[in-house]
Amino acid sequence: MPANNNQVSLRLQHHSLWSLTDSSECEQEREDNVTTRCPTPLEKLTTDMCQDEKTIKELTMGRRVGFYKVRGQIGCGNFSKVKLAFHALTKDKVAIKILDKTRLDLQSQRMLSREISNMESLSHANVLRLYEVIETPCRLYLILEYAGGGDLHTKICTEGKLSDHDSKITFAQILSGIKYMHDNSIIHRDLKAENILYSCNACVKVADFGFSKRVRNRNEVLDTFCGSPPYAAPELFRDESYIGPPVDVWAMGVLLFFMVTGTLPFRADTVAKIRRCVLDGTYILPTWVSAPCQRLIRGILKPDPSERCALDQMLGCEWLLPVDITHPTQPTNKLDPLRLVLADPGDLSRDEQEARAALEELGITDEHILNNQGKKSRSPVTGVYRILMHRVQKSRGVECVPSISGVVKDPKRDSLRAYRSLRHTSKLCILS
Ligand code: ATP
Ligand code: MG
Repeated sequence: MPANNNQVSLRLQHHSLWSLTDSSECEQEREDNVTTRCPTPLEKLTTDMCQDEKTIKELTMGRRVGFYKVRGQIGCGNFSKVKLAFHALTKDKVAIKILDKTRLDLQSQRMLSREISNMESLSHANVLRLYEVIETPCRLYLILEYAGGGDLHTKICTEGKLSDHDSKITFAQILSGIKYMHDNSIIHRDLKAENILYSCNACVKVADFGFSKRVRNRNEVLDTFCGSPPYAAPELFRDESYIGPPVDVWAMGVLLFFMVTGTLPFRADTVAKIRRCVLDGTYILPTWVSAPCQRLIRGILKPDPSERCALDQMLGCEWLLPVDITHPTQPTNKLDPLRLVLADPGDLSRDEQEARAALEELGITDEHILNNQGKKSRSPVTGVYRILMHRVQKSRGVECVPSISGVVKDPKRDSLRAYRSLRHTSKLCILS
C-alpha cells in the first residue's frame, strides 16, 4: 500500500519539539508498523504540529499551546489571564491560566512554583485540578480543570444572596475541600468568593492556589500577609505573625456571611477603613438568617484565632447536620500515569484500567509513559492521563453534589443586594 502524507511525515517527526520520545532501538520497528497501518490520533497530532501549515501557524500565534486549542478569555486576575481551551486528542474542555514570566519578580516566581506543587499534591472533588504545566521562554501555562458554572462572587452579584439550602450545599463543599487541604498540610490563604468556582454540574471547586502554603505542622508561624482585605482575619492586620488554619477559617466565615446575606460583613471603600472594621469586629447579622447559621457565623468570626471554630466542629454543627458531605478522595500517586506501567495489573483500579484503555486508543503506549517519567505535570502524557482519569471518575459520580436530608426551609426573601462596588483585590506583603 503506498504511504500517504501522514505516514511519510511520521518518519520526520522524531526530532521535533512536540514529538513524544520513543526509544531509538524501536524506531525502525515503529516506522515499519506505521507504514502498514493508519496513524494513531497521537501520531496524527504530532505530525500536524510539525508539518501542517495551519497547525504550525496556530502554534506560533498562540491559538494552540501544546496539545490544546485555545479559545476566548474566561477570566483574569492580578497575575494572569484565563482562557478556555480544548484538548486536541480527548476534546475535553480545560481552562488555561496564562502567566507572563517576564512580569514576575522573585517572590511571585516562588509563589507560582508553590501554586503548582501544592495543586499537584491535591486530589479532591472540591479542589480545582491541575492537569499539566507548559512553559515557554516568556510564558507559563497552567492547564486546569474547567469550571463552567462561573464564580461565587459573580453569581451573588448578579442573582443576589443564596437560599439557605444553596448556602448549605455550597458551604459544605467548601468545608470539605478546605478540610482535605488542611489535613494535607496546605493552607489556602486567599479564600474569597472570586476563588470559589462552580463546575458545569454545580459542584464547588476551591481555586487559585497562588498564595497557598505547605506547612510543617498546624501551628507553624507565618509572617506573609496574603489575601483580600475584606476576607482577612484580624490577626493579619494586628499581629506580626499568624497561624495558617484559623486564617482560612475566618475567610470561610466571611464567605458564609456573604452567601446568606449577599453582603460582606466588613466593608468600606479603603483598605484602612476595612482594617478598622475587621479589628473592631462588629458586624450586623440580619435577624432573618436562621439561628443555627447565625451561631455558626459567630463561632467562626471570633477575633481570637484560638477561640475560632475548628473545621471538625463546623462539620458537626447543627446548621450542616442535614447535609451529606462525604466525598471520596484518591491518593495522588494515582494521578501519575507511571503507575499504569509499573504496578501489578491486578492492583490497578477499574478507573485506572479504563483510563489506560482510553490512552491506548489515542496511541499513547507504555513506552511514551516510561519516557515521560519524573516530569510530573510538565508532560503532555500526564496531561492526557489526568484528563481521562478525571473523566472516568466523573462518570462514576465522584463529583456528585451533596444532598440534604429532611425539610429545610428557605429564609424570607429580602431586598438586600450584593455589595458590588469594591474590587476585592488580593495583596501580599511581609508583616512588620
Ligand atoms: P487573583 O489573585 O486576582 O485572584 P489570579 O491571577 O490568581 O487572580 P485566578 O483567581 O486563578 O487568577 O483566576 C482569575 C479568574 O479566572 C477567576 O476568578 C475565575 O473567574 C476565572 N477562572 C480561573 N480558573 C478557572 C477555571 N479553571 N475555570 C473557569 N474559570 C476560571
Ligand atoms: Mg483569584
